[in-house]
Amino acid sequence: MGRQSSGLRYCSQRQAATCPARIRLHHTGGLDVIESAHNHPPPKYVKTSTGHYVKC
Ligand SMILES: [Zn+2]
Repeated sequence: MGRQSSGLRYCSQRQAATCPARIRLHHTGGLDVIESAHNHPPPKYVKTSTGHYVKC
């Protein structure tokens, strides 16, 4: 399920709410919002697997 090297990160509610929102993190620290629409009240911040918090 998803390669770590891709930088792709899903919403923390993806499992619980099957939320489609996702972002892609860059090694430079930037990010692309691939899908910003949440199907639930969005969290203020999402913690990534690398321990960073990003606005989602
Ligand atoms: Zn979400």
